[in-house]
Amino acid sequence: MDFQHSYAALPLAFWSAVEPTPVAAPRLLAWNTALADALGLDPALEARAAAVFSGNAPPAQARPIAMAYAGHQFGNFVPQLGDGRAILLGEVTDPRGRRFDVQLKGAGPTPYSRNGDGRAAIGPVLREFLVSEAMHALGVPTTRALTAVATGEAVFRDGALPGAVLTRIAASHVRVGTFQFFAAREDHAAVRTLVDFVIARHYPALAGHANPPLALLEAVVQAQARLVSAWLQVGFVHGVMNTDNMAVSGETIDYGPCAFLDEYHPAKTFSSIDRRGRYAYGNQPGIAQWNLARLAECLLPLLHEDGEQAVAMARAAIEGFAPAYRAHWLAGQRRKLGLATEDAGDESLAQDFLEALQAVEADYTLSYRALSNAARDDAAGLPKSPGMDAWLARWRERLARESGDPAARIAAMDAANPAVIPRNHLVEAALSSAAEGDLAPFNALLAAVRRPFDDGPGQAPFMAPPALDERVTRTFCGT
Ligand code: AMP
Ligand code: MG
Repeated sequence: MDFQHSYAALPLAFWSAVEPTPVAAPRLLAWNTALADALGLDPALEARAAAVFSGNAPPAQARPIAMAYAGHQFGNFVPQLGDGRAILLGEVTDPRGRRFDVQLKGAGPTPYSRNGDGRAAIGPVLREFLVSEAMHALGVPTTRALTAVATGEAVFRDGALPGAVLTRIAASHVRVGTFQFFAAREDHAAVRTLVDFVIARHYPALAGHANPPLALLEAVVQAQARLVSAWLQVGFVHGVMNTDNMAVSGETIDYGPCAFLDEYHPAKTFSSIDRRGRYAYGNQPGIAQWNLARLAECLLPLLHEDGEQAVAMARAAIEGFAPAYRAHWLAGQRRKLGLATEDAGDESLAQDFLEALQAVEADYTLSYRALSNAARDDAAGLPKSPGMDAWLARWRERLARESGDPAARIAAMDAANPAVIPRNHLVEAALSSAAEGDLAPFNALLAAVRRPFDDGPGQAPFMAPPALDERVTRTFCGT
């Protein structure tokens, strides 16, 4: 592989050199052909993937490092985290000139492992593979998975589980927590170095801006507003939005206890460690803004030499989140509701649909999908309730004021409202089968979630919501 090493070229405080720890018996579990092609990788790599991406035989040009970062975990600041089980091999450039990190997750201990073993179990590895592929297919910015390799070794969590290594492809792995690592040490020169790195890597249009740290902050605010809006549109609950799990690129990163809503409720959490619901579905925009405020704090000394002016600039930038988020959310809802024009009542129309779903615990995904049918005058698939009847009447009246071709509207709605999401109960079932050696359910589910807008006959088994006794209420952190 043709690697570059721009991150490893940063000063020593940013990273630690560390070799992956070899594993006993690497075996390829999943290879992402579409991603390998998109990255312009040599197809012959697949045959060597188990050895290469387990870390047993890293490419000759790799320069493996673990990255330093800090972070607020559930609101508490931890000054030193870092890649405790992830190792960056290097960066590759795709045929369109875009640069990506190639990182092994679960490749053995690093100087940042603290008490951890540096390893990952097959379940969390395949969960990240599956859900990140689903997110990509849904059009949500995300890191991606190139390979999953079984290690042939056990990892010990509650009991012994088969181990695996994920190869993650990311626009970069710079997090809000990376800025916090240096800001907490009052190393403002390093923060400035990171600002320049991130601008060059992700926001090149900002180069030469009069105030680069401010421009960067504003750009990250916009990227996160767009990202979190995209999450809410598809019913995604990240589950662990700590500042070390928020990438400044605006990609979704770190699929731990994540889940998709079945029945709609804004207070929904799934993570077994999120007891107070800090990262509940409907809290995600507020948490994103809170995390961005932590980024702004890191940048304060660079924004303006006068402290008060710096705070005023930071505050103005952070206050930009809510209107940006709201605009993305409303635009997304208009697409979901089949509205091509704008009307002042659209926001409450969209909110009231959600309230009608919540009142009867209706399935989030299938209810939106059923609106295409309802646009054809058949409300099949929508919950039957007085609230929904009243809402449908209002929506039909609103649609009557749209001028476009109804068939085109239905096609556009079907392209905005997925039929297939990675249903939690199917994900859990696929991962348990995989842990017992049967990859068939995983592969079938992966194929289905890669075509989320297709509701053809083969997709039916993956569309159905869980029966009451199949509902997953808790997911477990991927550590
Ligand atoms: P996460 O909850 O996956 O975002 O991880 C939070 C922090 O714990 C990061 O610094 C990880 O590198 C570290 N960590 C998680 N799992 C392990 C592990 N098995 N071994 C070492 N470090 C870990
Ligand atoms: Mg993390």
